[in-house]
Amino acid sequence: MTKAEFLQLLRDPDICKEIFEIVKKGGKPTVEPTKFTSIGGKLKHMYPNAVAPQQQSTPQPSQPPTPKPTQSQQPPPQPSQPKPAQSAQPNLSSIADKLKFLRGHINKIEDEKIAAEEAAKAAEAARSPAEKFTVVLQKRCPICEKNSRVIKPKARLNVEKRDLDYCVHYKDFNPYLYTIFACEHCGFAAEEKKFSGVIPNKTKESLREFLKQNDMKLPFVEERTSEDGLSFFELAILFSELTDQSKGRQAILNLNAAWLCRCEGLPDREREFMEQAAEDFAVALDNERWPINGISDDMATYLCAAIYFLLKDYDSATKWLGRTMNNATLRTTAPKLFEQARDIWQEIKRITKA
Ligand SMILES: [Zn+2]
Repeated sequence: MTKAEFLQLLRDPDICKEIFEIVKKGGKPTVEPTKFTSIGGKLKHMYPNAVAPQQQSTPQPSQPPTPKPTQSQQPPPQPSQPKPAQSAQPNLSSIADKLKFLRGHINKIEDEKIAAEEAAKAAEAARSPAEKFTVVLQKRCPICEKNSRVIKPKARLNVEKRDLDYCVHYKDFNPYLYTIFACEHCGFAAEEKKFSGVIPNKTKESLREFLKQNDMKLPFVEERTSEDGLSFFELAILFSELTDQSKGRQAILNLNAAWLCRCEGLPDREREFMEQAAEDFAVALDNERWPINGISDDMATYLCAAIYFLLKDYDSATKWLGRTMNNATLRTTAPKLFEQARDIWQEIKRITKA
């Protein structure tokens, strides 16, 4: 029987009553100790000394038989000496003592269980956020084609709140530190979708040449600081400028870097990345094909408005809100987006009138 099972037994009032009955009767077994037909039988087997202190002459079934010495091996007779105590258990001479002994044993088991639970909690608390919330995977680098370790946030994170520009705040963890996958061999860095996607051969060749001449490699670390996270974003933006030159992608990378700063409490850096994101979105909306990385042009237009609103540039925000709300089909194609734009519009009216 395990400790947990024993504890469970002792929580049952009927079993406790049975223990008491056993103790009251002197604990003499009524069944073969090894064939447990009842809980009482099990307990009697487990605590023979506690329930039957007067039964010392009764052979203990759990003790192996002592082999009898042969004639030649028989030792010479020794003067009789006092026998040492058979066990460390106290001499339990009364029912009160027996119950006290049992209760003490139960308390000891409970204390051990509590200590084990507390040790497990302390070990969990001592784990770093990276250990708790990220996993290390092997991914094939699209440029050097070697397998590299990359870090990815675990799927299930507890959301605390969402901002107007879709920055999501999570409990005890900032996943934007790990948005960028980076190759530990050649230094190529990009968001997961780009890192795992197909890159044209011509682009690969030119990037390989660039990386040969410029060591851009950042060391692999399992736990990224805010500076690590921002350096990876800056690398990913640089590689986008060197390859696809997509302002839409760069806008999204800048916005994600701004979210990293917001969650890390870096307002000045956040502002820089947000301003760059809004500029890049504006260029991309006029020149590039959408959707980009799952973001539609309507969403990008709304994001421009939300970014300027958060930057307290209400004139620019109003301009982009007008573009969003003048879209005749948005109310039916993306009603939630329309409502969010209308809410910001009303909030700007309230602020500017005050
Ligand atoms: Zn590589």
